[in-house]
Amino acid sequence: MPEGHTIHRLAARHAELFAGDKVHADSPQGRFAEGAARLSGTVLDGTEAYGKHLLHHYAGELTLHVHLGLYGKFADGAGEPPAPVGQVRLRLHSDRNWLELRGPTACELLTPPEVAALRDRLGPDPLRTDADPDRAYARIRRSPTPLAALLLDQSVVAGTGLIFVTEALFRAGLPPLLPGRDLSTAGWVELWADLVTLMTRAVERGRIDTVRDADLPEVTGRAPRVDRHGGEVYVYRRPGAPCHVCGTEVSRGTLAGRNLYWCPTCQAG
Ligand SMILES: [Zn+2]
Repeated sequence: MPEGHTIHRLAARHAELFAGDKVHADSPQGRFAEGAARLSGTVLDGTEAYGKHLLHHYAGELTLHVHLGLYGKFADGAGEPPAPVGQVRLRLHSDRNWLELRGPTACELLTPPEVAALRDRLGPDPLRTDADPDRAYARIRRSPTPLAALLLDQSVVAGTGLIFVTEALFRAGLPPLLPGRDLSTAGWVELWADLVTLMTRAVERGRIDTVRDADLPEVTGRAPRVDRHGGEVYVYRRPGAPCHVCGTEVSRGTLAGRNLYWCPTCQAG
């Protein structure tokens, strides 16, 4: 599933394509026909991302909410939209550009109270300037739940997925199974700041890089990472491989059906 940086990039991209323009909308597949008809002919005022949720705000207090989930995908381009191929849930076009959405978990119109309710059920998003990290820590410091699970819970922190959480915990030297209540205030302040740094960099680069300069292949002479996700990481999907810092084999475990990766030496706690 895409992590928050991807959704923030899409929000910026969609604003670039359509903000201030009247859009025409339809649902070639038919599943969003009614919503598309209501959107069609309105002007896109702006876009925003909140965690993994994308919002398009249209004139007349009409908000389009998209959650890509595991399979959702956007495509876009300039000029006339291509003929729809396959299951296109939503197609937008203006005089200048077009956009297609396939396979999302959610594609719906929300009223202002529904937008407020969506924001209320999400934790602070490290990529938003209005984020309040204290809200997340209020949950974490009282909880016996492992830190990795708390950070993946979108109602605690929004936008963080397995890569950011795994890597931020490594960089902080914290074991993923540490109970939330054992994380100090100073530890949280540092962890939040690092999430902001890592996620902001990912928005800029369009990929997740978490390795500090001193541990990069150019500096240490190790082989670079080969992975379709790109980017250099410390422990994510590197079970059994040597830790870039101490050489210990990276461990793998599971937590609520998800894989966890950590260095037993660097993250001994
Ligand atoms: Zn290590």
